[in-house]
Amino acid sequence: MPPISVNSRVMSIGDANPAASASSDEPKRPTPRAPREKRGVPSGLWLRCDDCGETVFRKEVERQMSVCPVCGRHMYLSAADRVRTVLDEGTFEEWDSTLRPTDPLGFADKKPYAERIVAEQKRTGLSDAALTGSGMIRARRVAFGVTDSAFIMGSMGSVVGERLTRLVERATEQNLPLIIISASGGGARMHEGILSLLQMAKVSAALARYDQAGGLFISVLTNPTMGGVAASFASLGDLVFAEPKALIGFAGPRTIKATLRTELPEGFQTSEFLLEHGYIDRIVRRVDLKSEIARAIDYCGK
Ligand SMILES: [Zn+2]
Repeated sequence: MPPISVNSRVMSIGDANPAASASSDEPKRPTPRAPREKRGVPSGLWLRCDDCGETVFRKEVERQMSVCPVCGRHMYLSAADRVRTVLDEGTFEEWDSTLRPTDPLGFADKKPYAERIVAEQKRTGLSDAALTGSGMIRARRVAFGVTDSAFIMGSMGSVVGERLTRLVERATEQNLPLIIISASGGGARMHEGILSLLQMAKVSAALARYDQAGGLFISVLTNPTMGGVAASFASLGDLVFAEPKALIGFAGPRTIKATLRTELPEGFQTSEFLLEHGYIDRIVRRVDLKSEIARAIDYCGK
């Protein structure tokens, strides 16, 4: 039997398609597919790496935290898997899980936003695009947040903004190091209009107070981190880590190219390019992330 190519856990830079700024979160953009098939439903044994084109054994990719064993490409990882791979086992305690998105504008694109929310919740098992709470990283207690690009491109609406803001506020009160892993290709969520945009200011203000209180915020950027997320909390880390070859920026490269009518430099908006230009502090492979965070916390005396 020939290998079956199943891409459901793979999200390529092309798929991420961040061809938009925070203000133009086009609903027609392709949404990354569900992170994993439902339990009990047989899935392909193989998947194809979008970067090197090799067909690789799915189990092996999963064993390596969704990193291509051939070329090292860091593929999509769900919020739940982020919790599992970064926090000590069984230590995550979710906060504000009862917050639920609403549809204040009665917004509809291809389908009504209210229906979209329900569909996304079913498909991803998340109530919205961010998961927040506390947990331990190598026995150090931290406030931990993660966004998931499978849920409406990981875009920041009211619930994502509120959960993150409360996370930062609790980190301030409890004097905890703060870790937020961003996987948001969508920026601010257009379906909630201005209410999404104001989350950028709200969470940034909370981070400013956290900073004044002497907190340590480690922001981890993954593929993709774009739009209003990149333009607010994700860029405000005391330390900014990024996974290799992640796409990070505000407007997408195609938009910039079309607007400026110019050729973009090689590697534009990748982690490597941004490291060279001082926007991020360190590129950290997924397998090293937990240790690197623990080391940074110790080094900063937190
Ligand atoms: Zn590969």
